[in-house]
Amino acid sequence: MLRASCHCGAVKIHVTRKPRSLTECTCSICRRYGARWAYSTRKTATVSCDPSTVSAYVWGDKSLEFYHCNTCGHLTQSDGVEKRGDSRVAINARMMSPKDTGGIGTRTFDRAKTWKYHDE
Ligand SMILES: [Zn+2]
Repeated sequence: MLRASCHCGAVKIHVTRKPRSLTECTCSICRRYGARWAYSTRKTATVSCDPSTVSAYVWGDKSLEFYHCNTCGHLTQSDGVEKRGDSRVAINARMMSPKDTGGIGTRTFDRAKTWKYHDE
C-alpha cells in the first residue's frame, strides 16, 4: 500500500498496488509540473477529498484532467475525463513519502518527441 497526500492534507490517496516504476514525462505540462507519475487504475487507487477542495485543469484534446488542491496548490493526480471502469489514474508520486518510493526506479517517457521511454 502506498499513500499520497497534498501538503495541507485535504487530498489523500491510497494505492493498493505498488507500481514497478515511476514515470517522468517530457510533455509540455508534465515537465512544468515536475510530476513523477505512479500509474495505477481506478480499482487500485482511491482518492479521498471533498470535491470542493480540488480543481481540475483540462487542456489540448481534453482527454485528461490534472487535479490540484485549492489550498496548497499541489498536483495530486491525473485522471481521464471519461471515468471508465478500470481506466488508468496517474498519482503524483511526489505526494508520497520518499521512504515509500525510494526503492522504485524512475523512467523518463519522451512524450514531447519520440513517444518512447528513454531506456527502450
Ligand atoms: Zn492541499
